[in-house]
Amino acid sequence: MKKLWYKLKQRISVSYGDDSLNRFLLLTSLVFMILNLFLGFYPLWAMAVLLYVWYFFRFFSKNYASRRRELAAYNGIKWKIKQKWGLLRRKFSERKTHKYFKCRRCSATLRVPKGKGSITVTCPKCGEKANKKT
Ligand SMILES: [Zn+2]
Repeated sequence: MKKLWYKLKQRISVSYGDDSLNRFLLLTSLVFMILNLFLGFYPLWAMAVLLYVWYFFRFFSKNYASRRRELAAYNGIKWKIKQKWGLLRRKFSERKTHKYFKCRRCSATLRVPKGKGSITVTCPKCGEKANKKT
């Protein structure tokens, strides 16, 4: 038994271990498990098990490079969602005073004050002009 414990300890010491993606996987898996307890929705349980297996796979993995790439991709997605959510919140809080447009050419987000009638909006990024009603 002691030998097995020693082996496991050694195996963990060379494993990739935890990162923020792994914590996310574990937490989501737990949430799905709990939701399944209340809803009795089988696919949720299957998803939870899959996420749990993925968590263990990543935790005990020795392929650090691939795990770091996954982490970078996860952080990229998280950052994009954060940006989008921030913009949505800002649009909502300024819905009475400002209007938001997307630039036709570079799809940058443009913000103009409301109630100025028909104006020409110039994109500060690419210089594209567009007539907009405010
Ligand atoms: Zn533009």
